[in-house]
Amino acid sequence: MGVTDGWVEIGDRVFVRRYAFYDQNIGVVLGRGEALVIDTRSTYGQAREIVADLRSLTSDPVTVVVDTHGHFDHAFGNAIFRPATIWGQEGCVPFMRRTGEARKATIAAETPELAGQLDEVVIDPPDQTFTTDTTVEVGGREVGLRFLGRGHTDHDIVITVPGTDVVFAGDLLENGSVPFYGDAYPIDWAATAAALAPLVAPQGGVVVPGHGDHAGRAFADAQAASIAAVAALAARIHGGEIELDEALATHPFPEHPPGDARRPLQRALTQLRGEVGPA
Ligand SMILES: [Zn+2]
Repeated sequence: MGVTDGWVEIGDRVFVRRYAFYDQNIGVVLGRGEALVIDTRSTYGQAREIVADLRSLTSDPVTVVVDTHGHFDHAFGNAIFRPATIWGQEGCVPFMRRTGEARKATIAAETPELAGQLDEVVIDPPDQTFTTDTTVEVGGREVGLRFLGRGHTDHDIVITVPGTDVVFAGDLLENGSVPFYGDAYPIDWAATAAALAPLVAPQGGVVVPGHGDHAGRAFADAQAASIAAVAALAARIHGGEIELDEALATHPFPEHPPGDARRPLQRALTQLRGEVGPA
């Protein structure tokens, strides 16, 4: 599936659309007379593009939004979907309040073409939260939200749609690029990814990563193993068994640039030293 394919139905009235910017996946679940959207992209312009693209699927209103987590590319478009109810794990709200404004400035510096659009973004965190799991309803249909533990952030949501074999993994999994470790808890992430993978049915299961192609159980298992390998390598460095350069030689993301491979290990070491606090 590519960015030109439009909405792809991956389960009964469950869709994913892949946007070229950040190679990002946006999910939709259609109920009777209402729609649920998963993640809202980086700017109001990008969020409005989702709304416009939805018209090819349904004329029903979006009444529920789920932010898989509070990173800008997943939640800065929130305000465009109001008055919809916006769900997040309870850690999402303080994360966005704490980091939102600073993140606007960082991203504007890194991506100048977005600078003007980021200016107008009002940080609009979820108004509904949960701790470990909950069920939300959209047009008579249930959608399951779960928090499996810290990982990519301290508040990533995994979304299941009963009656389908679809699992939305947010950025706990990424396909085709190194998972982003900037706000991560790499040691916890190993267990969280190991708990996530079995939610994907071995036959016919579909898992949608935050970025890159959707895939099946084998992909989820493989990436969970890679994330566990990062944690294990970091533990060996931390224990004085091996040096960082030696660890990089057996790093689980060798196909990516060395700088990218180094970052997950460095973040894991930071966590092992007890220096990773709230982002
Ligand atoms: Zn993220």
